[in-house]
Formats: sequence, structure tokens, C-alpha cells
Amino acid sequence: MSVETDFLASLNSSQRQAVQHFCGPLLVVAGAGSGKTRALTYRIAHLILNHKVNPENILAVTFTNKAAKEMKERIELIFSRRLAQEKHGQRLELLSEYEQTKLRSSAYRSIIKYLWIGTFHSLFARILRYDINKYQDKKGYEWTKSFTIYDESDAQSLVKKIATKELNIDDKKFNPRSLRYSISNAKNQGLYPEDVLTQQPTYRGRVISEVYQEYQAQLAANNALDFDDLILIPTRLFAQNESVLGYWHQQFKHILVDEYQDTNRIQYQLINLLATNGETNRKNLNWENRSIFVVGDADQSIYSFRMADFTILLDFQEDFGDGLPDDDTRTMVKLEENYRSRENILEVANTLIENNTERIDKILKPTRGYGEEIYCYKADNEIEEAKFIHNQILKLTQENPELGWGSFAILYRTNAQSRVIEEALLSDIPYHVVGGLKFYDRKEIKDALAYLRLLNNPNDTVSLLRIINTPRRGIGQKTLDQLITASQELNVPLWEIISDETSVNTLAGRATKAVNEFAQIIKKYQASLETLPGAEILDGILDESNYREDLKNQGTDEAENRLENLKELDSAMMQFAEENEDSSLEGFLANAALASDLDNLNEEEEKVSLMTLHSAKGLEFPVVFLVGLEQGLFPNHRTLNDPTALEEERRLCYVGITRAQEQLFLCYAQERRLWGSREPAIPSQFIAELPKDLINFSSPPLQPRRQKKTTSKNNKETKKTSDQSSRNWEVGDRVFHKTFGEGNVTHVLGSGNKTNLAVEFPGLGRKILDPRIAPLQPL
Ligand code: ATP
Ligand code: MG
Repeated sequence: MSVETDFLASLNSSQRQAVQHFCGPLLVVAGAGSGKTRALTYRIAHLILNHKVNPENILAVTFTNKAAKEMKERIELIFSRRLAQEKHGQRLELLSEYEQTKLRSSAYRSIIKYLWIGTFHSLFARILRYDINKYQDKKGYEWTKSFTIYDESDAQSLVKKIATKELNIDDKKFNPRSLRYSISNAKNQGLYPEDVLTQQPTYRGRVISEVYQEYQAQLAANNALDFDDLILIPTRLFAQNESVLGYWHQQFKHILVDEYQDTNRIQYQLINLLATNGETNRKNLNWENRSIFVVGDADQSIYSFRMADFTILLDFQEDFGDGLPDDDTRTMVKLEENYRSRENILEVANTLIENNTERIDKILKPTRGYGEEIYCYKADNEIEEAKFIHNQILKLTQENPELGWGSFAILYRTNAQSRVIEEALLSDIPYHVVGGLKFYDRKEIKDALAYLRLLNNPNDTVSLLRIINTPRRGIGQKTLDQLITASQELNVPLWEIISDETSVNTLAGRATKAVNEFAQIIKKYQASLETLPGAEILDGILDESNYREDLKNQGTDEAENRLENLKELDSAMMQFAEENEDSSLEGFLANAALASDLDNLNEEEEKVSLMTLHSAKGLEFPVVFLVGLEQGLFPNHRTLNDPTALEEERRLCYVGITRAQEQLFLCYAQERRLWGSREPAIPSQFIAELPKDLINFSSPPLQPRRQKKTTSKNNKETKKTSDQSSRNWEVGDRVFHKTFGEGNVTHVLGSGNKTNLAVEFPGLGRKILDPRIAPLQPL
């Protein structure tokens, strides 16, 4: 077999057909574990290897960053094998470790680096880095290429600030979380604030619309985008600018999408625009040397709460096919063999999903025989359930030495269920909560990133406020309020005030020195952005800002741990610089903001994984515990009276069951304390839908085996009062300043003896001055 095609030998004929299809649209539909992701991955290698497609011309969309990483590794392996044959006439595995590493890094540098593989968010963030300045916003907002990406918690805090502090909305009636959710929904449907009101002409609609309006204005003022913007803005940009769309259409000749059933309308529009260059008549589409290839399974559509819509998958042929009689067969491949799960596990999954009415029947045949018995365990309560899992894991690892901790996954419906399970595992089983312990969510990492974000984008006020007094440098809330008010009244970013010494001297009272020192450090590193490597900038700023020193002085284990995490951030920056063509600070920050929960999975392979069913999509584990199968918990109580939502819960259960390769445990409790109250529970209706003969309802045999809060001292900023305050200053007044010369008053801030003036000095810019103290002469 030739080197060119030997990797295709590990595919079945339908997969091979999908991989070898060159131009035009192709849809691969198939059940869980049938090798869809594998086919997609191999297709990329095949395009490069056999059709000589330039890696830069390939765009592959994955559902998680982890999936993207795995895909790149897999392709790297295929190419390293080929290089091993070419250079050494040997199989890669037979070469020395040193040679193997050399070949892999050569494959990386020549191919993998150039591929556009990632999530919708990461890929389109990258595109916006090139073109966001060409975007014409309907409201006139502008962003520059160094925009900051706000993660979910940044977005939440911005919505909260706007709703409760600025618009005085009662947070009991309108929970900021739900407002944020509504804004996100609106964006996922491509709606502007005013459209929300048209769609929902109620009081609630008006509140959402107002908060959304202000939220977007503040994002723009901070030169920031949220996750939804990363999809929405490119869609609008492509729709309004033919040459931008044309450029990217030319670039991405081959588009591939995994988990297509969980694509939402806006994401679909993006893909559609890129593939068709905006051509709406499918008869006019020209597929010469280009393709669109999507894979999915409607039975695994579980993100409708994020506006995903699996009819997009069902409409694929309608959208991209030519409509000729044999279109159906030319543009679709079905995979019918499951390679992942034992036969009994697969049968249980298939029987369950047949209870859904809204589905297309499909075949999913096992390729692996019956495995271990599937148990459905009834626990007295949630603590017993957790103990059961703990004991079974210990027992199975003792019986099967090949099972490492990484072989086990515990899947649940809601995050809150993890705590009790964690407590049971804590003493003797290493575990990690996927999605719970996000590296980039840790306080010290967020602080360090805020410093970096500020260097990169000084208009990012959210980051500025996060760190201006972290570590504590005596800049109190009152000082900050003064500075913020000035920036609001002048309608300039806060940094513009803080970076100007004179303005600070006027406004910051006793904290003046601290604010100026802070601004000096930021300016110093801003000036070195182009010359110093990212990790050095990080180290420098953490030292000079006393951030590290402050942690060292705390001397606690927790502080020690935080220092280690900061070191890890250094490594992340270095690794990023090595691995990416775009190794700029901007690039790194975008990557960090997008780092998903699932990214930690790899490093922590030898730990039991705890995660929600939603996070488990696309993954597989030898042993899976599916817990909390109780009515109201799973299916979730919000879905019990809604047949469509209930079907989605059933799909979620199908996803859970089909993650298991060798063994599956189902668990439920008769009584459960969750979210603070203890309630009797009844078994999930899904249990009754499973084939009784394949499930053992008896118990399986057991073989045992924290920061001190310092009250900021009454940090009163005593101001000299003076008679000069009696003068009535007005915008347009001309003044003379001893040092700055003649200027124009552009704003009068505050009133009475709290009046400050913003004065524009030609050639020097704007300074904020206290007329009682500053050597100002009215002209
Ligand atoms: P899901 O719907 O859960 O995302 P999938 O259809 O993407 O599943 P993969 O993850 O690609 O399925 O494959 C499932 C498992 O089967 C993987 O371990 C993969 O390596 C293996 N596999 C896929 N195709 C084959 C094949 N032709 N021969 C042997 N094993 C295969
Ligand atoms: Mg998959």
C-alpha cells in the first residue's frame, strides 16, 4: 500500500467515500460513535496529501478547542508517518524518540500550523483580527484590531453593572443573569436592541432592549466583543462588504464542520456566506476546486437553548445541492457501524432514542460484542449514590489494571451535582471537574490577563478597573469614582484620564502618587510590547506592579498555589509563541479568552472526569456513570410539560449513554438534597424506556477494598477650599496655565467647591485641572 493511501485503510468503505469526495457539498449523517469525526479528520489529511490542497485553504470547525487540538495531533501523526517513510524508509514508531519528535515538529511547521482548525469563536476571532476595522456598524460603533474578548463572567459583570447601577433596574424583577441570557439569545438571532422591542412589545422587552443597547455601547467603548459578537459581527461584515467576503471565500476553498446538528442560524449564515460567496441561487454555485463537508447526528442535537437548530442539518442538501435527481446520493453519505460501544450499550441507547417522535430513523450496527453487564443502581440518597460510584471505581481499577483513572467519566445533568461526588472521591481518587476548575477562570490568572489586556488595549476599562488597585496600592473607591465620573462626563476612556499626570493630580487626592505610579508602569510596558516577548512582559509587570510580591508576603498555601499558576501562565505564553504563526500578545489573549472548559482534559488524563452531559459531547470513555436519573432532575423539571424540550432531554441521555465504550452504570436516588432542600425523588421516565433484559437492577457485587478584608481607612481626600471656587466657569472660557500655556475649557465637571475643569491645550491634549489649585488665569 502506498504511503499516500495507507492511512485510509483504517476507514470503512463509507468513510472512505466521504474522505475521497473532492469537490462540491457532502453531508455525512450517522449515529454516535460511527466515526464521523474520524472521517472529517482524515479528509483534511487526504485533501493536502492527495489533492495538494494548500493547508491555508482549509477551514475546519470543531465544537470544542480540545477537539481542534486532537484533530491537529491526529493529522500531525499522519504526516509524520509519511515523512518517516520518505526520509528513513521506516515506520515512524520504529524510529528513535528523538527522530520521532523531529519529524513531528517538521510536520507541524510545514502543515499543521497553517490549518484553520478551531471552534466558530476562535476561527472568527482570528478573522476579525484582520478585518474588524472594515466593519460598518449600524450604530456607528467602531472596534480596532486589538479588541478584547470578554468571557462570560466579564459579560455578566458588565450587564449587572449597567442594569443595577446605571439603569436602576430592580434585580429582583430582572435578574442580571437572565438579562444577559436574553441579550445573548437576541444576538444569536441576529437582532438589534430595537428588534427585541418589536418582537417583544412588553415591559420586559423594553428592559432587555434598553440594557442590550447600553451593553453594546459599553462593549464598543471598551473596544471589546463578547462571544456572540465574534459570530455576529463577521456575519454582518460579510453581508455588507463584498470584497471582504470575496477574500475569505477565496481563502477557504474547503470548509468542514463537525457536530453540524448544533449549529445555530447565525453560524449557519457565516458558513453559507463563506461557501457560496453570497450567491443565493444554488444552481449558479461553482464548486470547482472547492467543497463543503459537514458531519452530524440529529439525535445528538442538545444545544437548542443556545439557538442551535437541527433543521439546518436536515436542510443541507436543499441548501447546497444542485437539486438534480441523483443529488441525494451524490451529496450524502451514511455511516452505519458503531466502533465505540459494546453491543449491549448501543442497544440500550438505540432503544431509548426510538421514543423520540421528531427524528429520522437510521441504522447503527455494533461492531463490538456484548460487554460487561449494565447496572441501574438505586441509591437511598445522593450521598449513597456518590459512595457507590467511589466503590465501583476502586473495585474496577483493582480488577482491571489497564483501567487508569482517566478511563472513568461521571456525567450529570446539572453542575450542582458534582459537589457530593467530589466529596466522596476526595480522599483517594484523583478527579477533575471539567468546566469547574477552568485555569483561565482563576483569580490570579484573570488579574494577570487583565494587566496584559490593558497593555494591549488601553480602552479596556473593565480590565483597568480590575487591577488598578490589585494589589492594593491605596486607590480607594472614592478616588476611582472621581476618575470615572470625569471620564464619563468627558466621554473618553478612563485610561485617558489616568494616563495624564495633570488630570490625576487634580482628581486623585491622596491617591495621586499611587495612580501616577501605576500609569507609569503600564506605559512603560506598553512601550515594550513590540520588542519584548510576551512572557517577559508578563514577568516584568507582575514584579513592578508588586503583584507577585504581595502574594509572596501572604505566605499561605493558597498564595503559593496562585504563584505556581502564574508560572503556568508563563509556560502557556511560551508554548503559544512556539506553536502559533501569530504569536502576538493579541493572539495569545484571544486564545486565552476562548480557552474552553474542556482544554484541561488532556493534561489531566489520569484523573476521573466529572462533567455535565453537555460537555461530554464527542468524547468517549471506557467506563461511564450516568447519575441522577430522576424525574425533574433528568429530565429536567422545566421540560416535563413541553414535549419538544423533553425530546431534547432524551437526546442528551442518548449522548450520555453513547459516551461509554466498555461499561455503563446508571444511577438514581430515592431522595435527594439539591440546591438546599431535601426531596423524595422518583426514577426518571427514561429508565422505564430502556430494555429491561439488558439492564441489571440489582446492586453490583462490591469488592472493597481559603483574604483578610482591610477596611480602607477613611481615605478622605481633603481638598483645599478656596474662594476661587466662587467663579462661574463655562465651557468655551479661555485660560492661561503657567506650564501648558493657553487653552480652552471644554467641560466643567462637578459644581461648587468640587468643580474641576477639562482644558484642551493645543498640542498637549486635554488636562483636568482644579481651578482652586492650578495656576490658571481666565483670559
Ligand atoms: P460522536 O457522534 O459521538 O461524535 P463520531 O461519529 O464522531 O461520534 P468518532 O469519535 O469519530 O465517532 O469515532 C468513535 C470511535 O470509533 C473512535 O474511537 C474512533 O477512533 C473509532 N473508529 C472510527 N472509525 C473507525 C474504523 N473504521 N475502524 C475502527 N475504529 C474506528
Ligand atoms: Mg464526533
